Amino acid sequence: MTDAVRVRFCPSPTGDPHVGMLRTALFNWAYARHTGGTFVFRIEDTDAARDSEESYTALLHSLRWLGLDWDEGPEVGGDHGPYRQSERGHISRDVIAKLAEAGYTYPCFCTTEELAERREIARKEGRNSGYDGHCRDLTEEQAAEYRAAGRTSVTRFRMPDQDWTWDDLVRGEVTFGSEHVPDFVLVRANGDPLYTLVNPTDDALMGITHVLRGEDLLSSTPRQLALHGALARLGIGTGEIPKFGHLPYVMGEGNKKLSKRDPEASFSHYEKAGFLPEGLANYLALLGWSPGNDVEFFSLAQMAEAFEISSVNANPARFDIKKCTSINGDWIRTLAPDDLAARIVPYLIEAQVLPLPPTDEQLDVLRAAVPHISERMETLGQAAGMVGFLFAGEPGCKPFEVDPDDAAKVLDDQGVATLEAARSSLESLESWTTEDIEFALRRALIDGLGLKPRLAFGPVRVAITGRRVSPPLFESMELLGRERSLERLAVVGN
Ligand code: GLU
Ligand code: ZN
Repeated sequence: MTDAVRVRFCPSPTGDPHVGMLRTALFNWAYARHTGGTFVFRIEDTDAARDSEESYTALLHSLRWLGLDWDEGPEVGGDHGPYRQSERGHISRDVIAKLAEAGYTYPCFCTTEELAERREIARKEGRNSGYDGHCRDLTEEQAAEYRAAGRTSVTRFRMPDQDWTWDDLVRGEVTFGSEHVPDFVLVRANGDPLYTLVNPTDDALMGITHVLRGEDLLSSTPRQLALHGALARLGIGTGEIPKFGHLPYVMGEGNKKLSKRDPEASFSHYEKAGFLPEGLANYLALLGWSPGNDVEFFSLAQMAEAFEISSVNANPARFDIKKCTSINGDWIRTLAPDDLAARIVPYLIEAQVLPLPPTDEQLDVLRAAVPHISERMETLGQAAGMVGFLFAGEPGCKPFEVDPDDAAKVLDDQGVATLEAARSSLESLESWTTEDIEFALRRALIDGLGLKPRLAFGPVRVAITGRRVSPPLFESMELLGRERSLERLAVVGN
């Protein structure tokens, strides 16, 4: 045995990946990178009815998008494959046979109705309502009778009669009394192995040293410890029982567990809305961990450098979408303008603000506009509303539109007169630069018409950009160009 760390992320590919899952992936990745260990990615597709290929693909994409690389797993391979449970049926069947032969398991013939009935009675009598061990000691004859009567059986694990204690890497000492851990099902009646079997089996066979996973799985740990014990005695796997650490719950609105139905729970939401991988990874890390000293802004590399399981907080973490968004904004402002512009482009195409492919001139305009909008951006998706006016009306782009509410607020008679004055002051401008535009407009509207800056520039802003809130006006006019600026002042003014 070496003491090299081997951790794993082993989601079941059902539905849209969930931010809680990716938090788990992130913490495992960080621990592997911190210790120079191995990050194993394995797919627990044990539920043919619910698992889907889309979900599998989305999982791989999500990890890659976040910047989490794996050392063993789908597409990269490794010495402990295959890494999809659906391709490990032969391994599970072998383990099931060995466990049965050594007496660690037994067939249980109870029907769902019988189990429910006995559970109900136990509950009424104030007894423990877990499986009551009904089939634990059936004789061969009794089993044969059940079979003859056409009953099928599931396979149950015979739990040793003992309390279960482990030193949780996050929560400290955790104990479950034996009465809370009844014999549990490992194999369905149709022979399909369950998560309860394959998860510890694969951990054992893959030499996993640390299991970091969500707190919702805490109550399955005693069963897994028991199964690990049996596997070790049978010589299956490395014989080393992994250490367990349970990451805190992620709470959503109203202090309820973040559920799959919460829109912010779905991972794909973040990419669609234009979060940066850097920003989302940073925020996911804060769901239970921070580097200390009130530091809340850090990169994946910095997290890997600093990550210790012992500094994971056991208290529930609150998912605060505002904070997540504001951290993303901070990340946006770390990007060089050309990088930011490049990352914005797909969102502009999606919003039909830019055509596919954009022209070189359009990309130049965007790169020049980016420094003027990055201060107010929190997601890449917001860029469409901020720079759309620069491209509006060009081939393949949306037409130019003035927000009707904004127009109603500023384009009264005086507003229209202001546009007229603005246009005639600009028509004769020799050079179309920010400075000259500003100079001419100030002279015409503030000195000439005696308007306050807000009243002077509000109508011009709406005419040029379509909105009352926009990137800086004079810069915007320079970027838009003389011809189109004058045209908008004329058209909107009419
Ligand atoms: N496939 C399990 C799940 O998605 C993994 C649990 C674990 O990490 O042990 O819940
Ligand atoms: Zn039974």
